Amino acid sequence: MLLRTIIVGAGQAGFAVATRLRIKGYDGEIALIGDESDPPYQRPPLSKKYLTGEMSRNRLYFRAPDFYADNRIELRTATSVEAIDRHDRSVRVDGMPMPYDTLVLATGARPRRLPASIGGELSNVYYVRTLADIDLLAPEFRPRAKLLIVGGGYIGLETAAVAASLGLSTTVIEASPRILQRVASLETAAFLRRLHSGRGVRLIEGAGLKRLVGEPRAVAAQTNDDQLLETDFVVVGIGVVPETRLAVAAGLSVDNGIKVDAQGRTSDPSIFAAGDCASFPHRGKYLRLESVPHAIDQGNAVADAIMGSSTPYTAKPWFWSDQYDLKLQIAGLNTGYDRVIERAGARAGTASFWYFRGRQLLAVDAANDAQAYVIGKRWIDAGQSPEPNDLADPLKPLKEIAAH
Ligand code: FAD
Repeated sequence: MLLRTIIVGAGQAGFAVATRLRIKGYDGEIALIGDESDPPYQRPPLSKKYLTGEMSRNRLYFRAPDFYADNRIELRTATSVEAIDRHDRSVRVDGMPMPYDTLVLATGARPRRLPASIGGELSNVYYVRTLADIDLLAPEFRPRAKLLIVGGGYIGLETAAVAASLGLSTTVIEASPRILQRVASLETAAFLRRLHSGRGVRLIEGAGLKRLVGEPRAVAAQTNDDQLLETDFVVVGIGVVPETRLAVAAGLSVDNGIKVDAQGRTSDPSIFAAGDCASFPHRGKYLRLESVPHAIDQGNAVADAIMGSSTPYTAKPWFWSDQYDLKLQIAGLNTGYDRVIERAGARAGTASFWYFRGRQLLAVDAANDAQAYVIGKRWIDAGQSPEPNDLADPLKPLKEIAAH
């Protein structure tokens, strides 16, 4: 009898698992089940070129429809997996059991929502996670419309960049003392603040949202420090939570994500997890990453493990964000940094920000500076660190700096 792998979640990680299994010669059945109505697609352009209208829907799709049948991948869209029965090794789909030999949870993450008590359910409050979200949101992007963005993280700032470029009057409010508080240094935040302010975006930092005013549409927002900001619509970008509901209900080990071992196996050896939903061992701790490269790499590692590999997955984190004509490329993880060195790039408007803990290089944020990104990533992946003072010397070319 043919083996069957069921993959729950037809996003970046689920797609990676399915395709890698076939590349590696998996001969069993593969079912890729996703609750969105589109076939697997790239999410990053949603807050970038798809929102500006520069990229069509079809270009978001990873593959043309034939690809799935040609590769014997049974793709089911608009289909929710309702429960896992670990005892029977089946999942429930449309009320019916569907047996598996191996199950992969690639359920991603869902946006943190504003509570209904402060206006989170008003009809012009939007989120930026799925194609369906953007299809609802995009018609509001009319020149001169007043947009309020709640949250100054990457999603909020990318949305602000699109809005400002399209001529909307754009305000971002951030409850933390500054934008990008959780993910980037003061220096990187200052660089981006200058960029957005120069494009006319109003950034209000250290002011949380008290409530939205208006019914059925929000017409204003009241901040914690009692500013009243008029608005035509609201985009909420206040982070995501890992989608672990199926795993929790099935009694799998979950702690800020579905806990997996170095091969992506959950506390049940026939169930794996990958991508935004998974929490995996990394340098003696558990880590959860929200990025495309990680979803692909961990998805591939899970497929390899299903095919019998015991090679541990080693994350080599990198990420990017596009805002206006800025490409910000990030390599490494800056957690625990105690020093940041800022280097001006070769051209105006370019820079890099180097995170150290002691003398150890942890991460680099490269702003339109591909050389800094490439060199920094190479050092970080190899566990090498340059001398911080060399980096701080603006006259020392990056290419001439040694790292050990
Ligand atoms: P997802 O791609 O979210 O896929 C999970 C899928 O599972 C979803 O379709 C979900 O609906 C489905 N699902 C959940 N539960 C069930 C169920 N019970 N039954 C069926 N289906 C289910 N990363 C970068 O590296 N660079 C970027 O520039 C960048 N920009 C981004 C911009 C936006 C607007 C967003 C939203 C994300 C961005 N990311 C970026 C993050 C990146 O897209 C995610 O980290 C990546 O998509 C994670 O892949 P995943 O497969 O784990 O989750």
